[in-house]
Amino acid sequence: MYERHHYINGSDVEGASGRFGPIFNPSTGEQQGKVSLASKSEVETCIAAAQAAFPGWSATSVVKRARVLQNLVQLLYRDKDKLAEALASEHGKVFSDAQGDVQRGLEVAEFAQGIPHLLKGEFSDNVSGSIDMYSMRKPLGVVAGITPFNFPAMIPLWMSCMAIACGNTFVLKPSEKDPSTPLMFGELWKEAGLPVGVFNVINGDKEAVDTVCTDPRVKAVSFVGSTPIAQYVYSTATAHGKRCQAMGGAKNHMIIMPDADLDQVADALVGAAYGSAGERCMAISVAVPVGKQVADKMVDMLKPRVEALKVGHSMDMEAEMGPLVTADHLAKVRGYLDLAEKEGADVVVDGRDFKYSMQGYENGYYLGGSLFDNVKPEMRTYREEIFGPTLQIVRAETFDDAIRLPSEHEFGNGTSIFTRDGDTARAYVNNVEVGMVGVNVPIPVPLAFHTFGGWKSSAFGDINQHGMEGVRFYTKTKTVTSRWPTGIRSGAEFVIPTLNS
Ligand code: NAD
Repeated sequence: MYERHHYINGSDVEGASGRFGPIFNPSTGEQQGKVSLASKSEVETCIAAAQAAFPGWSATSVVKRARVLQNLVQLLYRDKDKLAEALASEHGKVFSDAQGDVQRGLEVAEFAQGIPHLLKGEFSDNVSGSIDMYSMRKPLGVVAGITPFNFPAMIPLWMSCMAIACGNTFVLKPSEKDPSTPLMFGELWKEAGLPVGVFNVINGDKEAVDTVCTDPRVKAVSFVGSTPIAQYVYSTATAHGKRCQAMGGAKNHMIIMPDADLDQVADALVGAAYGSAGERCMAISVAVPVGKQVADKMVDMLKPRVEALKVGHSMDMEAEMGPLVTADHLAKVRGYLDLAEKEGADVVVDGRDFKYSMQGYENGYYLGGSLFDNVKPEMRTYREEIFGPTLQIVRAETFDDAIRLPSEHEFGNGTSIFTRDGDTARAYVNNVEVGMVGVNVPIPVPLAFHTFGGWKSSAFGDINQHGMEGVRFYTKTKTVTSRWPTGIRSGAEFVIPTLNS
């Protein structure tokens, strides 16, 4: 049994609250460690460390800051497998997918290396007699990130790389379910040359989140997690005067047009629905075949693929899908599968009776893949996020019926359409009420130099993660009007300056 603590001022700091959360290995079902859950005063100590580091770091030249990011990128490549193994053992996703988790975060570090260019402001020469006007982007101060269990590398890196490159100091409150990888980032930032106190990790639960969202020294909060907590964090942080972006849950639809290559669609769907056991905010959880013929064919093509899914230990290199994150989450997903049947959906493949047969892993939190047909929009299992290895088929008669489904759904994170027709694809892209859209691409996760964020109940706040939106979120604009030389005399003027004056 190992213990995970906090990372403050460049050091491992033992928890003093006497409260701990369990860390499980989902592949075996055993508790493998425990993590300190911070008290309010411990979070305050962490914020104070970040506050003390701010004047030095914000005054560090932008080129030097970029060099720290360059070093970090090299170290992340060096330790990618070590980080992936640590997160796979606590999260349960298979190793190759865990490597992808690190890689997608690392790509934001690569983007943030270009911060000297990204922070360039605007300059207008001679806007009036000897007057120049320019703007610059200044860091906010101490900023905080609160992250979910399902991407313990990517999401902390999304936030910390952009925040720190922009000159802020950072407090990370990661998920208590898989805290090891975020803590490993502390040592990597230090090795990359980041001054102590700029990157800190405080482990905890609601008490830590509440402290971060209310402490006046924290200027901005970035959150990713479930919708109810996203809403809570957004309203608490903004009520306390902070800038906040809070990404929430999802229900992502894939529309399948009759002209699509159905073999390609079936392969895309099994990866997008069951990869990471469906515990991805960009997983496809609803397939919408257009027309009865397409729907019947899709069911026939998906059934054998779902039955053949290789479920296994996160370090089993043959496995395509690992266990769910905790026994509680497994019970929640099973509850939804029971409910789907009760609500009248047709069970095509039932993953509930899956028993992991490899010796020694019977207690892991495994579920097989499930497939439900004839799911209806009024069913609770359609309206709510399940976050497990299950795909629901909602049959649509026409393209117009199909586009209405994601557009009218409470969530609006991601969606995709498979078609060979450009007009249909264009109409879908332009009109669907969802923030991230794929065309013949099953999981349309934007790369680091674009920006990530959903619509409706999938995101609260106006500014997305990474890309130029990340720079905007972590900076405030200062605009300067300056006259040189100073020797020009026009006497006192009492009207507001205009270009006619
Ligand atoms: P979660 O909401 O349970 O936890 C997220 C964070 O909030 C954690 O750090 C947790 O400690 C904290 N938290 C939990 N309960 C809290 C409470 N009552 N008060 C204050 N803080 C609390 O989410 P999760 O289960 O870790 O992650 C899965 C969810 O995240 C899914 O809904 C998924 O769709 C969503 N997600 C969304 C995105 C996105 O970009 N939209 C990305 C990844 C995950």
